[in-house]
Amino acid sequence: MKLFARFFRYIFGVVVTAAIAWVVRKVIQSATPVPNGSRRGPVRVEPASTPQELFRDPVCGTYVAGNISHSLVQGSETLHFCSRSCVDQYRAPDKLAAGA
Ligand SMILES: [Zn+2]
Repeated sequence: MKLFARFFRYIFGVVVTAAIAWVVRKVIQSATPVPNGSRRGPVRVEPASTPQELFRDPVCGTYVAGNISHSLVQGSETLHFCSRSCVDQYRAPDKLAAGA
């Protein structure tokens, strides 16, 4: 019966250790703010979240961010387009309208 008692004490010790580890982990988790859902790690500011000025595409009316737009300088102003085809359409509307 001595062996059984030692075995029981060993199992008890393992369970208690696991329980303490679980509680400690829970406390650390609740104390640390989680920035992105359940993803943990160093806090980083996403570059995509920085506000970008929006420009209206004069051809199709889509609002496009200045850093990803296809720009076309006309005189003193810069026009922003959502795509290359919109730029082409703006430059030569008659040619594209004719179906060339
Ligand atoms: Zn467009």
